[in-house]
Amino acid sequence: MSHRFLAPLSLLACSLAAAHYVPALPDSAIAKPSRQFGLPFAGAPGVNSWLLGQGYGNTTGAYRQRQRTYGNLQGLHAGLDFSAPCGTPVRSIGDGTVAEVDGPHGSPPHNVVIDHAGNLSSLYGHLLERSSLRVGTKVKRGDVIGKSGDSQLTCVSAPHLHLELRDASHQRFFNPLPYIAANWDTLSLAGSFGRGYEYDLSAPRKWQTPDSQPQVSRGGRLLNEFAQPWPPAPGGSR
Ligand SMILES: [Zn+2]
Repeated sequence: MSHRFLAPLSLLACSLAAAHYVPALPDSAIAKPSRQFGLPFAGAPGVNSWLLGQGYGNTTGAYRQRQRTYGNLQGLHAGLDFSAPCGTPVRSIGDGTVAEVDGPHGSPPHNVVIDHAGNLSSLYGHLLERSSLRVGTKVKRGDVIGKSGDSQLTCVSAPHLHLELRDASHQRFFNPLPYIAANWDTLSLAGSFGRGYEYDLSAPRKWQTPDSQPQVSRGGRLLNEFAQPWPPAPGGSR
């Protein structure tokens, strides 16, 4: 095998590492949840505006794709999905600085990452088009940072925003609920997924409410390889 291409590739890898992957941060360096952020959409929720869709954590959807899609996220849905028509303005959940536009952190076709105080970062995924913001731009809570899109690129099959709250080293993913001031009880009732959590019938109360979901660490072991899952994986497949 020729080594001609290794040098440029390793340079590229280094530049990505320098730009996006800082050493893992200790818990003490990360702001604790105090409802310090807002919602990523303006106005009231509703069938013609936006609704909470899939929750964070141990969802049935994540369970079905625990290896294929979420294998690097311990099998869990590491963010919140908000259903919204394509083109709905997406807003920064807090004051911060644009850290990435279409960076390497998933949720295609387009995404934005904003760094906030307390070593927290928010990711806005499945955006309709590339954000016009530039890396380094300061934003205020509520500023429009892009337009919501569709993970399946149709704007009729799965139009939604995927929102994550991470530590700034992008190694850990937090349940956004205690960080975002909102009426989560009402939003959870109105959303299209219902409760939507996967049961382990040998521990049926575990991770069954929106605010009792575990933290996710990148590359950790699957948390939902349950002894007695319900609903079972379709056809026993993974
Ligand atoms: Zn999602």
